Amino acid sequence: MTPEPAVPLWPAGSGVFGSWPTPDVAAGAVQGAGPIRHLFTTRAGGISAPPFDTLNLGGKVGDDPAAVAVNRQRLADRIELPVDALAWMDQVHGTTVTLAHPSATERSEACDGQVTTTAGVALAVLVADCVPMLAADPVNGVIAAVHAGRRGAADGIALRALDAMAAAGSRADQVHVLLGPAICGDCYEVPAAMRDEVEAALPGSASTTDRGTPGLDLRAGLARQLRDAGVDSVLVDERCTYSDLELFSHRRGAPTGRLAGVIWMSKRP
Ligand SMILES: [Zn+2]
Repeated sequence: MTPEPAVPLWPAGSGVFGSWPTPDVAAGAVQGAGPIRHLFTTRAGGISAPPFDTLNLGGKVGDDPAAVAVNRQRLADRIELPVDALAWMDQVHGTTVTLAHPSATERSEACDGQVTTTAGVALAVLVADCVPMLAADPVNGVIAAVHAGRRGAADGIALRALDAMAAAGSRADQVHVLLGPAICGDCYEVPAAMRDEVEAALPGSASTTDRGTPGLDLRAGLARQLRDAGVDSVLVDERCTYSDLELFSHRRGAPTGRLAGVIWMSKRP
């Protein structure tokens, strides 16, 4: 079934992330024809047993490490890079954004965002409802992958990522952002006080769920914050992890696996 076409917040014509949805996005295929490539994985294509079935890429969710290793190798094969080109983060819902090192198979330093200027380094972010934010400045050759959950988003990790990209040579007005699959504002129910607290820190994130209760749409808040920071090109992959059974959702079924958002610069033109 073809997903309903979504209207991007900004016309995507010249965006490095193209438009959404593309015909094969639901299959977790590599996206992008230029040097900047990305993908979001789904549950399909791995070997993990339930409840991590099947392509769990998270190493700290209780899954068999041997299965995770096979799944990560399959991801590497899909993006045609060696497995040690995948840079994973030790994510802690913080706001630290670091420079990824080539061949960083497992980051020892806790962080929730990473940046690189090196072609062939694939930055990976793991999520199951939180927002996977991918960013690229194609002019200056700087990319980032960011884990933006409720806490990190409210604490400003998207802006810290722009800062880290700027430190690596990028300019906000040349940055393109793609906000990936996450729990949507119709589904993400929270207490009213929490909604108000997050809305105060991240204006535009308050929502009402489809049950009429207080909710959060973190991607809406992040998109507004990024626009206010000078990023003109923000595209939202509007898939909802909670309602799309092809994706991992912590809220729908914890314990569960993690999908990955991955961005890299190809060494080939
Ligand atoms: Zn939803």
